[in-house]
Amino acid sequence: MAGLEGRTALVTGGSRGIGRAICLRLANDGADVAINYANSADAANEVAEEVRALGRRAEVYQADVADRDAVNAMCEQAIADFGQIDILVNNAGIGSSGINRPTITEATQEQWELLIGANLWGPINTCRALVPHMRAAERSDVIMISSVASLNMGPRMGLYSIGKVGAEALAFTLAKEEREHGMRVNIVAPGLVDTDMGRKLITLLPGSDDMRERDASSPFGFVCTPADIAAEVAHLVSDDGRYITNQRIYVNGGGF
Ligand code: NAP
Repeated sequence: MAGLEGRTALVTGGSRGIGRAICLRLANDGADVAINYANSADAANEVAEEVRALGRRAEVYQADVADRDAVNAMCEQAIADFGQIDILVNNAGIGSSGINRPTITEATQEQWELLIGANLWGPINTCRALVPHMRAAERSDVIMISSVASLNMGPRMGLYSIGKVGAEALAFTLAKEEREHGMRVNIVAPGLVDTDMGRKLITLLPGSDDMRERDASSPFGFVCTPADIAAEVAHLVSDDGRYITNQRIYVNGGGF
């Protein structure tokens, strides 16, 4: 699906996993890419090299999305570098497995701040920094990478679920507020995906710790890949997705 020539995407958490796949897919489809990361500078630079090998421009920006000042500085620099950002993908996130899945009452203040910081304040910070700028584009897109956790509300997933539900509320509200400016705002909600986060999660769940052993019991015989999520993002931001806004698409093989 080509057609993103002349457009520029800022992808948070573009260094690994789903974010990396989104950077590569959007570049493959013609977009230039601003790649955000928190800690993995080498991985982010490798993604940038892969984007450049596809003939597109890539720049790398370190910023903790939970830090409003850092996000503002990143967005200002990206706009200065590229002239325009017209696709924002809020992908950066920390899984409940990253904090060993405490219950609501067990979780420490630090754990609450870490998960809500990355998963909810992150999208709030990027949207506040970029949405006013993005209105200038004839067509612009905000994509929120959520999770089936926003529907399931499972035990020991609360800090994560609360962040994702809040980010979805942000998306659904922005979709209505910004439609008059040509902005499409949609949510892509994966189930289990084969990434570092997914691999950590399955060690804490019943069943095998080996992703390949989970293929057989997954919908269609395989665990979802980052490329499957990236393909849906690419569709939504493409011309083929021009009449789709205010939607949440589950990419989970229909398995809840
Ligand atoms: P991952 O493999 O753990 O990668 C996480 C990415 O987010 C990395 O690029 C990381 O940057 C970045 N990141 C984390 N905290 C950040 C922060 N505070 N500021 C900036 N960047 C930050 O995770 P993933 O599986 O690709 O997940 C991507 C998104 O999909 C997340 O929003 C996650 O909640 C969602 N999701 C994942 C699954 C799954 O099963 N994997 C299922 C449903 C939803 P560094 O590399 O610099 O650390």
